[in-house]
Amino acid sequence: MTTTPTLPNPTDLWQATLQWQPTDNLQPRFEQLYGAIVAINQTLNLTRITSPEDFWEKHLWDSLQGVAPWLSDPALATQPLTVVDIGTGGGFPGLPLALAFPHWTVTLMDATRKKIAALQQVSAQLSLDNVHFLAERAEQVGHQPVLRESFDLALLRAVGSTNTCAEYALPLTRLGGQAILYRGQWSAQEEDSLIAILPRLGGQLREVRAVTTPITQGVRHNVIIDKTSRTPDKFPRLPGIPAKSPLV
Ligand code: SAH
Repeated sequence: MTTTPTLPNPTDLWQATLQWQPTDNLQPRFEQLYGAIVAINQTLNLTRITSPEDFWEKHLWDSLQGVAPWLSDPALATQPLTVVDIGTGGGFPGLPLALAFPHWTVTLMDATRKKIAALQQVSAQLSLDNVHFLAERAEQVGHQPVLRESFDLALLRAVGSTNTCAEYALPLTRLGGQAILYRGQWSAQEEDSLIAILPRLGGQLREVRAVTTPITQGVRHNVIIDKTSRTPDKFPRLPGIPAKSPLV
């Protein structure tokens, strides 16, 4: 059996960037997650980010920074949210959030059944009981009456263009909820194009939060969209269309 190297736990960086740090109970859970993902990754390609420093910064820290207000604001920290992670891949951002917020219910969705099966295995190894799984496409789940407009938060990281992600997320977000798109670079054109299509999906841009990753100084932008009115039944469009022909 190979042992996974120990993850860093730079409490000063957690504090300086997110005004938060993992409890003594949570840090070993992050270690377990890292070990389980790296082990499965030997047979199924879940992620290319596997060194301890990279995993810490690009998976753990990055997953958590997108929901920073819920970490640092005591009034938000105790809210029991329902969250969907659309196109979760190797479980990011969903799995670190399920660990850090045991009072949230996190649904991991991915179109690739094998990935979801692997995440079920990881979650069982970690005895996570607040995680649900959907091996389906966002375009299909978005039309399921029980799930449509039901989630407090819809999260997407590295799944497609901004407008594609908005079309996946808003049909699943409840009125008054938020969609949070984890993006890298961001441009004025991208922002204008998003603002132009959001009314059609029932969304309104709240803010774009620029963030720098704490070790390699990478560029991140969190695009936060409020769900302000019902999404028309025609969205999301048929499978494949939102990615092939994003709304303009
Ligand atoms: N969010 C993860 C994975 C990104 S890779 C991370 O940031 O590390 C993109 C993932 O989205 C892939 O696993 C792919 O299967 C999934 N995906 C792409 N389009 C999708 C769709 N329409 N519905 C559900 N999952 C989708």
